[in-house]
Amino acid sequence: VLAAYSGHTDCGLAALAFTESVDVDRLLVGTRYQAQFGQSPFAIARGMQFEQSIRADGYARVLELMRERMQFSVDDAKVVNLRVGYPRNRDGLEQRAVATRRLIGRVLEGSQEAPNLLDGAVLTGEIAGTTAYFEADAVAARFDGPIHAGEVKSFPVVDGRPEPDKLGAALDQVSVYLLLIGQLVEQLGGDPEAAISSKAMLIAPKNVGLTPTLETQDVAARVRRIRTLLGQPLPAAQSRAGIQPRVFERIADTSVPEKDRLRELNVLSSTVGTKLTSGCLATCGLARYCRSSHAACGSPIVGGEQLVRLLPGVQDLSRATELAAGVQPSAPEAPVARQLVRAGKLHAQRFGPEQVVAAGPVST
Ligand code: SF4
Repeated sequence: VLAAYSGHTDCGLAALAFTESVDVDRLLVGTRYQAQFGQSPFAIARGMQFEQSIRADGYARVLELMRERMQFSVDDAKVVNLRVGYPRNRDGLEQRAVATRRLIGRVLEGSQEAPNLLDGAVLTGEIAGTTAYFEADAVAARFDGPIHAGEVKSFPVVDGRPEPDKLGAALDQVSVYLLLIGQLVEQLGGDPEAAISSKAMLIAPKNVGLTPTLETQDVAARVRRIRTLLGQPLPAAQSRAGIQPRVFERIADTSVPEKDRLRELNVLSSTVGTKLTSGCLATCGLARYCRSSHAACGSPIVGGEQLVRLLPGVQDLSRATELAAGVQPSAPEAPVARQLVRAGKLHAQRFGPEQVVAAGPVST
């Protein structure tokens, strides 16, 4: 959640929801804008199969990849799996966090007992005054060098290239782990700069099969961004003017008619503001609502960031259509208006005159 939010810090609605620990993926359950994040049973089964395959034979495939891609000397590697032997609840997370701290301490001491690979480490961080637990997929690989962190994902890496949105989200996750490991190292008296590598590892299946591949990327800039984010007061926490108490509870209440829930959300989002980006669809449970809302207003962002860049000074798509039809532009619109007129003529030659559909607010 933190990694996903780190990409939306300039969105007032996302910031407020994050501050109030609202699960935005579930906020609109039962409405037409319900988040569609659930994976198909086939995708879940494939993910589990992939994870099992890389843990088989004492993590042989992962260790082999680390030898090949990271030049780690993996002979006699010690692997600790903190996913087994602990209850699957908050108590279990607390116990695993203690075990993670102890094991990272051993790594820093250079102890013979220190693990080389730690699977399912649990890291802690303070988020808006609350201790949060972060369960990491594959953390703390250390072989005669700094500690590395990584993430196991089941999305395919086709021709060495994962999907950019998914890659970005995975790297943000690893960046959170690196930041939290750094804090832990500091608490243990170590130097995070020297003890931790900023090179993130991503282990994912190659193409459509289950053969694992390991990609690396430097995430120093992402770690800095997340550190800055956590060091700042959350924006929505600074000003709650105009925000009704318990508004998220009412929006999430499935016993309330959909039109009333959406009306509350319309008021809230126009009070705090939203900042739709093309990344929202993959990382925020309110994306379908926000996209529909921006589409109804004719916001250029529904065509992507490139369209926004192509229409500087133009308020919405209806206005772009008017300008393309030759309406007198204002001074800020003038440069782009010339291009729109040319585009309008080409469009008319090719398709004939189009009827313009008027924009309106999101239907409740
Ligand atoms: S989907 Fe909406 S609420 Fe979520 S980050 Fe994007 S604009 Fe903000």
